[in-house]
Amino acid sequence: MVFQALVIDKDDAGYRAGLQDVTESRLPDGDVMVEVDWSTLNYKDALAITGSSPVVRSFPMVPGIDFAGTVVDSSHPAWAPGDQVVLNGWGVGEKHWGGLAQRARVHGDWLVRLPGGFTPRQAMAIGTAGYTAMLCVMALEKHGLTPGDGEVLVTGANGGVGSTAIALLAQRGHTVVASTGRVTEAEHLHALGAHAVIDRAELSSPGKPLGKERWVGVVDAVGSHTLANACATTRYGGAVAACGLAGGMDFPATVAPFILRGITLYGIDSVMAPQALRQQAWNNLEQGLDLVKLEAITTEISLVETPTYAEKLLAGQIRGRVVVRLRNDA
Ligand code: NDP
Repeated sequence: MVFQALVIDKDDAGYRAGLQDVTESRLPDGDVMVEVDWSTLNYKDALAITGSSPVVRSFPMVPGIDFAGTVVDSSHPAWAPGDQVVLNGWGVGEKHWGGLAQRARVHGDWLVRLPGGFTPRQAMAIGTAGYTAMLCVMALEKHGLTPGDGEVLVTGANGGVGSTAIALLAQRGHTVVASTGRVTEAEHLHALGAHAVIDRAELSSPGKPLGKERWVGVVDAVGSHTLANACATTRYGGAVAACGLAGGMDFPATVAPFILRGITLYGIDSVMAPQALRQQAWNNLEQGLDLVKLEAITTEISLVETPTYAEKLLAGQIRGRVVVRLRNDA
């Protein structure tokens, strides 16, 4: 069978991503074949497609760190043809061909059943960004964050992780402050549930080891000085969930917030997260995400448009999430 895939090649002719017709025999090993209905464009996919960061470990590679689809063939005991599934991470789209293709062959242990409350499109509107936002919220709440405690900061607010984190936190009753470089989008961020909006410039320059205590919790998708300043302004005993590096991979901080204010820094990883945690995150998303808000942050594109949108995403021109339609009748 021949199907369409976005393929990244790197050879003497350079690094390039383009649409190709691919035969099933070229798919990597795996015990489950999935017809992909929807995929998404995450920050990591944009890095892979544009080649701006060494995300792809072998070539040729089909990018796409997540997908939602329907099992068409399986020798794995948990999955049968017709099952609707979701995949996030596990190195898919980095070292194992990924979701930006009409077919994917993967290991059954990597799959999660599509939560009954979501269509495949909605699951991908959430995607790895939204599922990571939920992992951040779960880490903060496990730490003890309770509605009414005070302000919770979300950085990279107009991005996929940030937008979803705002909607999730607000839905759960938390008071959210959104930090963004696009304050012109304040109205949209308020509609998602943000109580207040601040300019990200307040957090992005080198700061003091400790600042005025403000946040009871933080979801940080930005890293670098933003993360350091967020830690320095977190209230005594509060917690910061760090999941991203949109502003840089460095962490130019001091130990002061940790040893003088007892704050906790949680590292959030979605790629290798254990199945039980994933399942819990997806269950929580099913119960705690307003689907009207989800649709408001979703842009739909076709596979052929993904390279253009990858450039836009890295240029900070995308608001929220991008879903990629793989099947014309999906
Ligand atoms: P998006 O591109 O959708 O959003 C990133 C947002 O960060 C932008 O919209 C922008 O928000 C802000 N931003 C961009 N550049 C800068 C900058 N130079 N300085 C400060 N802020 C900036 O990406 P995602 O939301 O999908 O991902 C966010 C981060 O989280 C990425 O680094 C990604 O790799 C990471 N991630 C990590 C995961 C994990 O498992 N740990 C899983 C998923 C994502 P605004 O315009 O509002 O300022």
